[in-house]
Amino acid sequence: MKVTEHIKKANGKTLFSFEIIPPKKGRNIQELYNNIDPLMEFKPPFIDVTTSREEYVYIDKEGLLDRKITRMRPGTVGICAAIKHKYEVDTVPHVLCGGFTKEETEYLLVDCHYLGINNVMALRGDAMKHQKYFEAAKGGHLYAQELVSQIQNLNTGKYLHDVVEADYKSDFCIGVAGYPEKHLEAPSLQTDLKRLKEKVDAGADYVVTQMFFDNKKYFDFVEAAKNVGINVPIIPGIKPIAVKRHLQLLPQVFKIDLPEDLIDEVDNCNNNKAVRQVGIEWAIKQSKELQEAGVPVLHYYSMGKSDNIKAIASEVF
Ligand code: FAD
Repeated sequence: MKVTEHIKKANGKTLFSFEIIPPKKGRNIQELYNNIDPLMEFKPPFIDVTTSREEYVYIDKEGLLDRKITRMRPGTVGICAAIKHKYEVDTVPHVLCGGFTKEETEYLLVDCHYLGINNVMALRGDAMKHQKYFEAAKGGHLYAQELVSQIQNLNTGKYLHDVVEADYKSDFCIGVAGYPEKHLEAPSLQTDLKRLKEKVDAGADYVVTQMFFDNKKYFDFVEAAKNVGINVPIIPGIKPIAVKRHLQLLPQVFKIDLPEDLIDEVDNCNNNKAVRQVGIEWAIKQSKELQEAGVPVLHYYSMGKSDNIKAIASEVF
């Protein structure tokens, strides 16, 4: 079932969902299941699985460094299929512009279609570590909006290069990213909203937000999105702070602000166990307020271990 259908069916009740990261290649999928198992009692209608960018690795070959490119966490679509089958839940693979040609994207979408996966998140991806700015793969997309258009074309039976006369069409429900504190490269929030509207106009069915720690940022964003004519569901993304280092890391990587109260509470912690507890309590407070405001879904970023998401969900759902 599509994410938007789940939202409609819930009839105003806030749903629980979360996002997982594929394990590093060479690790067992059981580790992933061990983190998903405790969350299934909260009945997520869908689970997102991220896709990682490729990266360079350097292999020492008799004193000379050989540079190879690799994806350390492959398997997004396979994991989606495995989870869908094991838990009978819908899954949402994240599909990236970065590192993929349009043809590779088409094959990935065809795989999803065959596997009965009819939700996808269309994302640009970040620049690779050595790049200052994002660069499209040769023959790939530069912006998420172009990727949305490709997926939407498939929904109308239009494959690349017009070589196929399709007698059936895909029916993907398409999610895209939104940024309550603007995307880090955008010159202004208003310009970023204009870009978000372009993604919706190209066929996006819903938006999932970047993490934020002050609900006012989300409420203002939803209002501003409405004002530019964005009328699809906007799902808030919640990340519980888990370690002290997040105080520097999250603003640096995502260009988001942290509220003073939260910073003080984390600063006063003597160890990361205490920080994890502060993160849980903050996320519970955020979640309850968002739930009261009638958000369609609370979507949690689970970075591996899920004990904190379980603690939050136990209080909220
Ligand atoms: P876009 O919508 O393409 O926007 C990127 C920037 O370009 C913005 O500043 C926008 O304003 C600007 N822009 C857009 N269109 C144009 C245009 N036509 N001309 C000029 N400027 C334009 N990353 C991963 O690698 N893997 C994941 O699985 C993943 N999952 C995510 C899930 C969520 C919910 C979110 C919020 C982010 C996720 N990301 C993921 C991170 C995401 O890839 C980055 O934030 C990336 O930098 C931007 O992606 P986007 O899809 O928002 O890009």
